[in-house]
Amino acid sequence: MTVRSTEPPVRTAADGGGSRPPAAPMVACESLVRIFRTGAAGRRGTEVQALQGLDLTVEEGELLALVGASGSGKSTLLGILAGRDTPSAGTVRVADTDLSGLGRRARTAYRRRTVGVVRQQTASNLLPYLTARENVQLPMAYAGLPRRQRASRTMELLDLMGIERLAGRTPGAMSGGEQQRVAIAVALANRPRLLLADEPTGELDSSTSEEVFGALRAANTELGTTVLIVTHDALVADQVRRTVRIRDGRISTEVLRHAEEAGAPLAGQEYAVLDRVGRLQLPREFTESLGLAHRVRLVLEEDRITVWPDRDRPA
Ligand code: ADP
Ligand code: MG
Repeated sequence: MTVRSTEPPVRTAADGGGSRPPAAPMVACESLVRIFRTGAAGRRGTEVQALQGLDLTVEEGELLALVGASGSGKSTLLGILAGRDTPSAGTVRVADTDLSGLGRRARTAYRRRTVGVVRQQTASNLLPYLTARENVQLPMAYAGLPRRQRASRTMELLDLMGIERLAGRTPGAMSGGEQQRVAIAVALANRPRLLLADEPTGELDSSTSEEVFGALRAANTELGTTVLIVTHDALVADQVRRTVRIRDGRISTEVLRHAEEAGAPLAGQEYAVLDRVGRLQLPREFTESLGLAHRVRLVLEEDRITVWPDRDRPA
């Protein structure tokens, strides 16, 4: 394996490619740890380390996919970013809010105004006895937005999601994909800086999930909302510029994609992630194909680092 130092720098929406100093990231997680303790009181319970020193930076304006096996810690991370859960250790900042040190009122304000959340279970995102319009207006009412503005902003959002015609319907009279698009409008009601979607297309067929992904993309391009989508869906992951893979509670690899020419499909390049102390996880396919285990030899060359099998190891 070779690590080159000559790759071009990755450009993000936030730096615009110009010479302005980069803006503060929208999300900055450093060495995040989340330990769940289970078991009855008085007994020695078991511990699950759902996050094990996770580092993640998301720039303002990015549309990012988060992938990883079941149980790898994706929902735990989203819960922390949503302000629903707190880390056991490490720091997390979203849009200049330090989430570890938030009091109850600041946390409520953060959840109401800074983040929006869309869940996988389509039914759990909406109140079944309210129409689409009423569902979208509800968070605005909680935030104290005047009635007239609520009505116009709701129609703008339903329009952006391509579901204006559903304004007067209740969720029971909509398809799963339509419900998810209303749910995205609800999540966007108070103009959050960050939109979190946990497997939003998990229960949908592929053409419907394309529509839901299109709605999330519209939030990103039209409203400038930073969007983080947890997904198993290759269809979604292949269409975003950056996909981050989480493994055992840490970021393991990233795929960065760019269009070779306008309108062309995105071509991807996989990167390993170097953490703050310089640790690097080699993909299992690589280590297995060369039989690398325990010890490898590292050689620093002019523009790369090479990783060699351990010659001294008995065959
Ligand atoms: P993913 O969303 O990637 O499937 P999760 O973040 O839900 O993974 O879970 C990561 C690990 O943490 C799993 O082993 C899961 O069982 C455990 N876990 C998640 N939430 C809790 C909880 N509330 N109590 C105990 N263990 C939990
Ligand atoms: Mg999950």
